[in-house]
Amino acid sequence: MNDTPTLTLYNSLTRQKETFTPQDPSRVTMYNCGPTVYSYAHIGNARAAVVADVLFRVLRHIYGQEAVVYARNITDVDDRIIQSAKETGKPISEITEKYAKIYNDDLAAIGCLPPTYQPKATEHISHMIEMISKLMEDGFAYASDDHVFFDVSTYDDYGKLSGNTLDALRGGDRVGEGEVARKKNSADFVLWKPELDGVGWDAPFGRGRPGWHIECSAMAKATLGEVIDIHCGGVDLKFPHHENEIAQSCCANGHEKFANYWVHNEFLNMAKADGSSEKMSKSLGNVTLVHDLLKEWDGEVIRLALLKAHYRSELNWSEDLLKESKAQLDGWYRKKADYFRVKSLGAGSNVPTYLDELLDELNIPLLLAGLDNVSEYIETLYTANSEGGISNEQMSENEDWNIFVDLDFMIKRANLLGFLQKDPEVWRKGGLDYDVLVEEYDSVRAQAIAAKEAGDKAKMGEMFKRSDEIRDQVAAEGIVIESGPDGKSTWRKA
Ligand SMILES: [Zn+2]
Repeated sequence: MNDTPTLTLYNSLTRQKETFTPQDPSRVTMYNCGPTVYSYAHIGNARAAVVADVLFRVLRHIYGQEAVVYARNITDVDDRIIQSAKETGKPISEITEKYAKIYNDDLAAIGCLPPTYQPKATEHISHMIEMISKLMEDGFAYASDDHVFFDVSTYDDYGKLSGNTLDALRGGDRVGEGEVARKKNSADFVLWKPELDGVGWDAPFGRGRPGWHIECSAMAKATLGEVIDIHCGGVDLKFPHHENEIAQSCCANGHEKFANYWVHNEFLNMAKADGSSEKMSKSLGNVTLVHDLLKEWDGEVIRLALLKAHYRSELNWSEDLLKESKAQLDGWYRKKADYFRVKSLGAGSNVPTYLDELLDELNIPLLLAGLDNVSEYIETLYTANSEGGISNEQMSENEDWNIFVDLDFMIKRANLLGFLQKDPEVWRKGGLDYDVLVEEYDSVRAQAIAAKEAGDKAKMGEMFKRSDEIRDQVAAEGIVIESGPDGKSTWRKA
């Protein structure tokens, strides 16, 4: 394929911009570390997911939809999950299934395509045991006090991704006293831990549970292969998680590399009222959940806000950023409505979807700015047309002024980034029209009461059922209907 567009990516491993060349263009592989499912995803998690989603879309555009294999795991065994099960008295599977579903629903709402594979850690325990056994056999790992550790001194490239040398790691020893006593080197990390609260699996090196890092190495190998093309994730996972994934996978599989390209997105910070910013953290009480944001904002607004900064720059998250994104999308959606209107007049266009900005290190902000430029240009044509400067004929005939071509160009590119997915009319109304629904609610309630008085039980049941449906429908969007005097109800945000 000579006409395959050239994609360049900044590779965190080599610290330079490189031309992306997959091992096999008919099977391009990418892996992204998924959530530990014991609570809701925050907006920082969402940034990593959305950046990976854009990369996934670009790769699908270049190599074909079927040619890109994307795995994003679910970590469903973890000390915090076990702790949560203990505190709530709920079975582990109930907690993990609930939060895995919420995670997928929230990500779908912000326009992330489902990955090709979503392996669960608990379904790959045998692969983890296999990998740990191999590492022990070959002298890369050792058992100590019911644990198995990876011996970092056996792997010369340890620290290459994060830039941490073993000496520096020794200096910055932050592990607990107990762990140090069990380990040969302070930077050694755990592959296998003893059973906790009855949670464990039988293994040749003792009954227990996996460490977090080995999970990703085993799942990536099982779903994608021993060497993957691209590994993405938030920069917060670079060390130790990704560093450890590399060490385990390279030593167990005997390859020089685990992933050929590492794509890391930068931090998301929370903007403060005084214009400065701070890290998002529980102790600062500023953790923002995607689930909560979705009650107030459309998923596309959140997605656009997340993509406003280049993925390799820090992003300052604020209410203003959301408002700005909403206004921008309102403008684009008006163009989408125009597109349908002009199309219905018989206009045609076959503008190819090209995405040069994305091919250069995923320059999403540049593409977004381009969309705004086209949108503004169309506005100037409208103005000129309404003022008599350009006639209707000129607007549809002149190549430079063909609004339909511009609209088509703009919408195709927005679609490719996961925007303008809705009907413009639905967008304008902002989802459900609560006023109309509350009116219907009052009407069916009145009919139900009348049917009750008339002794028509069937009709009464039917009307109450409909009123319950409306209540549930708005409740799903965080809206409560409140009954008022004279059978006149109102709605408010829950
Ligand atoms: Zn991982």
